[in-house]
Amino acid sequence: MIIGCPKEIKPQEFRVGMTPNAAREAVAHGHRVLMETAAGNGAGFTDADYTAAGAEIVATAQELFARAGLIVKVKEPQPEERKRLREGQVLFTYLHLAPDPDQTRDLLESGVTAIAYETVTDAQGGLPLLAPMSEVAGRLAPQVGAWTLQKANGGRGVLLGGVPGVGPARVLVIGGGVVGTHAARVAAGMGADVTVLDRSLPRLRYLDDVFGGLFGTRYSSAGAMAELLAEADLVVGAVLIPGAAAPRLVSRAQLSTMKPGAAIVDVAIDQGGCFETSRPTTHEDPIYAVDGVMHYCVANMPGAVARTATIALGNATMPFLLALADKGWRQACADDPHLLAGLNTHAGRLTCLAAGQALGIDV
Ligand code: NAD
Repeated sequence: MIIGCPKEIKPQEFRVGMTPNAAREAVAHGHRVLMETAAGNGAGFTDADYTAAGAEIVATAQELFARAGLIVKVKEPQPEERKRLREGQVLFTYLHLAPDPDQTRDLLESGVTAIAYETVTDAQGGLPLLAPMSEVAGRLAPQVGAWTLQKANGGRGVLLGGVPGVGPARVLVIGGGVVGTHAARVAAGMGADVTVLDRSLPRLRYLDDVFGGLFGTRYSSAGAMAELLAEADLVVGAVLIPGAAAPRLVSRAQLSTMKPGAAIVDVAIDQGGCFETSRPTTHEDPIYAVDGVMHYCVANMPGAVARTATIALGNATMPFLLALADKGWRQACADDPHLLAGLNTHAGRLTCLAAGQALGIDV
């Protein structure tokens, strides 16, 4: 199989679909790997790293798309990339088709077989190719929250861990899933006094069993939210209702009960955010104030740590990538229902039920 990994062209995307290690594994499985020149630069991987791993560097995306049977990327194909896709070719990347009718139309017209990272499942009911990015964003949240709390950034000038004789910051994490758990662990590791709110008692029991002592847990009721918001220096929004927009859990009126200069990191902003006052921001201009409360709402947080995020994503995609290359997509999907769940388009047909329902297209 000829596997091709182009340079990402979406603005501010520094990750790359294959690490040199992934290229090395694919070559060891008898495949040819084509890397577009400079594809790994944003994540700190040079062309020489890929060449040493046995990959071939190609000068243009045009050549790469023309030669490869399996295209491995990070972000959804951009309009000029979509023109290069064809029937019989397999595309393996994040797609997020449900809110994107233009991309869906182009993929269907191209006839490409597209397998979306975000709909691949695992035996525990999780999403194994989304989880690494939630882990990254979760661990990053206290780091950017701590920065936002600094005086020069408009924050209240509170150090997360305090110092001897001065108490720690209070951190509230709303949602104790993948993002929330990693955020709580890191915030607690930085010395903060952390509480996780979730509406799932089984999840709170699990967190208490595993992390009891490191951070506290509270059931997500209106009363608990009001009490914890008023005390918080930093609030991390990390809720998810699968397939739906994030619930707006904190209203503008409630914001006024928070301390002046407190900080919000709304990780759930990619699903609309869980604060009424959240709006998406970028890495170039990440924060803004509403009623004296600082908001950090970057929708692609892992991009800030492109190298870690690339390696984490590569670790998770590797077994699926090798299965697709070794067996071909038909056999790989026949053997693995979790990979099959990732199949979104094939030969002009939409094959993802959730995307079909969202877009009003027969599946
Ligand atoms: P998850 O499914 O693992 O966890 C979500 C948690 O929210 C669950 O434990 C659920 O019980 C809880 N929840 C749902 N409704 C709640 C409510 N009303 N009150 C309290 N808790 C509630 O999801 P995740 O992987 O942790 O992702 C969380 C969010 O972060 C998602 O919106 C995801 O898309 C987003 N995310 C954003 C970025 C970014 O760069 N901004 C990166 C990765 C993930």
